Amino acid sequence: MNESTKSAPSKHIAQNAELTETSTGKETRQPLRLAVLGATGSIGRQTLDLVAAHPERFELVTMSVNSRTDEALKAVSKFHPQTLAVCDEHAARGIRDIMKRDFGSTELVTGSDAMTEIATRDDVDMVVTATVGYSGLLPTVAAIKKDKDIALANKETLVVAGDLISELLKTSRTRIYPVDSEHSAIAQCLEGEERDNVHRLIITASGGPFRTLTAKELEQVTAADALRHPNWSMGAKITIDSATMMNKAFEIIEAHHLFGIAPDKINAIVHPQSIIHSMVEFKDGAIKAQLGIPDMHLPIAYALGMHHRIAGASGYLTFEQMHNLTFEQPDTERFPCLTFANTALIRKGNTACIINAANEVAVDAFLHGRIRFTDIFDVVAHTLENIDYESSPRLEDYIETNTLSRRKAEEYINKYKVIN
Ligand code: NDP
Ligand code: MG
Repeated sequence: MNESTKSAPSKHIAQNAELTETSTGKETRQPLRLAVLGATGSIGRQTLDLVAAHPERFELVTMSVNSRTDEALKAVSKFHPQTLAVCDEHAARGIRDIMKRDFGSTELVTGSDAMTEIATRDDVDMVVTATVGYSGLLPTVAAIKKDKDIALANKETLVVAGDLISELLKTSRTRIYPVDSEHSAIAQCLEGEERDNVHRLIITASGGPFRTLTAKELEQVTAADALRHPNWSMGAKITIDSATMMNKAFEIIEAHHLFGIAPDKINAIVHPQSIIHSMVEFKDGAIKAQLGIPDMHLPIAYALGMHHRIAGASGYLTFEQMHNLTFEQPDTERFPCLTFANTALIRKGNTACIINAANEVAVDAFLHGRIRFTDIFDVVAHTLENIDYESSPRLEDYIETNTLSRRKAEEYINKYKVIN
């Protein structure tokens, strides 16, 4: 696919040069006021670690959870945010009285629009999108319309509607700071470089827990097996996506939208040690890589620091840990989900939105023991074949595609795939 005219990476990935005013005068700078969407998740909790360690730099103004209110209350009692958003109404009812009695200064907002409400507050400077799946789309769109800076963990937003987000960014002052470790690594490698000199992006993949299994063995793996990721401790959904390599397909799509690099210039390579977090190859043959221990605190800190380094964000890598760095080509026969990246970026339109919706349904079914691991690919492929293609979707079209695709995937699972 020739898309070389699109080789200039997005101006919305901020460079240090744009940010010099925030790199100086630490004494007088006001804390950056944060809205953390998905504060009880893996990324959300690590974000709160950083807030707790640097109260002079960060203030938690508002946060959201879906239903884990026990965890939410612990965070409220520690950080005293102005608002707590609980998206699940039933869960919210359960803490209404406790909130009034014990945390009267924190307002409780609830329901499906609650994330949008908190992401667009006037007193928020940066939104950390650490909610999972499609749920990140509408609050992110609303935050961009309000010119909020975004530390973007929720890659599904760019997968579902990357073209729409890019369009919105053209008329917004929002700057996007990637949290995903691969995209943070690429942003770090691109610092100080002329973007026209980029030859390709090389996204590393751990290969997940099933990297060495045969196709036959993959049919028998359970959710518990898949949740044992060798290098990273993450939420359930992304851990399954890592095992199928759908996560790497999503990251290729994410990189395309973040950096404006043509799809044929973005490659995935399996690197089981997860020490090199990704690389950029330049036209003169040089390759820059970012290395570090597998610890999300570092990319989170680099995003929240607006591409300035925060000392002590993560531990140091030893040379012993680097003595055996290996690489292999991904095997798309055993891990066919990786091929959805190409399908999505070639067909464009609502294609990736369909893939994402079907994948969310399939992953949930696998986690509940309703389908096999290897059925995840079938469910997504079947849904893709049976949902109408829309070449230039608007926001409402993405919303409709998501609803229809979920329904189709669910129907297919119920009819053909449920295991006894
Ligand atoms: P988790 O499952 O650990 O946490 C998800 C968070 O979002 C929780 O706070 C959860 O609330 C909330 N949430 C889930 N569903 C909804 C919903 N429908 N509406 C509102 N809130 C919801 O996820 P992760 O932290 O692992 O991942 C978050 C995002 O970051 C994902 O997009 C993932 O791809 C991305 N990412 C994660 C990495 C990691 O290391 N974990 C690495 C790179 C990217 P509750 O606790 O109440 O259920
Ligand atoms: Mg990643």
